[in-house]
Amino acid sequence: MADENGRIKSVVTDKEEIIECQVVGLTPGVSPNVSFLNDSGIELGRGIKVNRFLETNIKDIYAIGDCAEQHEPIGNRRPIEAVWYTGRMMGETVAQTICGNRTEYKPGHWFNSAKFLDIEYQTYGWVFSTSGKKTYEQHFHWRHPAEKICLTIAFDKETRQFLGINTFGIRMRHEIFDRWLNEERDVMHVIKYLKDANFDPEFYAVYENEIAAKFNLEYGTDLKPEKKNWKRIFAIG
Ligand SMILES: Cc1cc2nc3c(=O)[nH]c(=O)nc-3n(C[C@H](O)[C@H](O)[C@H](O)COP(=O)(O)OP(=O)(O)OC[C@H]3O[C@@H](n4cnc5c(N)ncnc54)[C@H](O)[C@@H]3O)c2cc1C
Repeated sequence: MADENGRIKSVVTDKEEIIECQVVGLTPGVSPNVSFLNDSGIELGRGIKVNRFLETNIKDIYAIGDCAEQHEPIGNRRPIEAVWYTGRMMGETVAQTICGNRTEYKPGHWFNSAKFLDIEYQTYGWVFSTSGKKTYEQHFHWRHPAEKICLTIAFDKETRQFLGINTFGIRMRHEIFDRWLNEERDVMHVIKYLKDANFDPEFYAVYENEIAAKFNLEYGTDLKPEKKNWKRIFAIG
């Protein structure tokens, strides 16, 4: 709904609920604009169909980035991955291939980052939303009492294996989470060494002790976060 100046003032939901607001964000998703290829002979789906080598059905023609669609999705990834890290990794992969080293696209563990207004968001591994939560998945959630800062850690209910993390307002170190996912660490390891993963700039407030305290309370553990250790971070020695 608009006010008398044509500016947004509220949203009316399908339950007739009125939510007052100043800004509306629309999330229509992404559709590759590939209709110009309709008569090209290149196989299309929603995007340009590619195999694991990012090759189309026509020799020497590749597709990468937002327009590329995998025949079969890779792991939990979507067949079209419209994020810029994917475009970069696909670019590196195809560059190898066209320079003579035919290389398969292997994106590794899912990760992404974005910035919504002044809030930074990061994700490593898989944390499914409440509606899509897997039966084996348990979530630990911590939220700052006043600031827009929070994190959610997903882990396996039974084995407590770490599955993924979402953070709002805390920057994390990609290499560390990639390593912990490869090493199949448990959630207790993540809480204990969370200071190693923090990538916020110097003098930023840190919250690992509060996060560990909440985890201890909820899961009856007695974890004490280790001091940040650069040798551990860079896996030296
Ligand atoms: C508002 C917004 C916010 C985003 N935020 C994030 C984020 O926070 N994190 C993240 O990971 N990703 C984000 N993305 C997604 C990310 O920007 C894209 O995944 C990435 O840019 C895709 O790169 P690409 O090279 O595949 O395509 P593009 O960057 O779209 O490049 C395609 C290029 O092809 C050109 N082109 C199109 N048709 C033709 C033609 N017929 N002939 C010649 N040239 C043509 C276009 O002009 C364009 O320059 C965001 C996207 C949007 C729109």
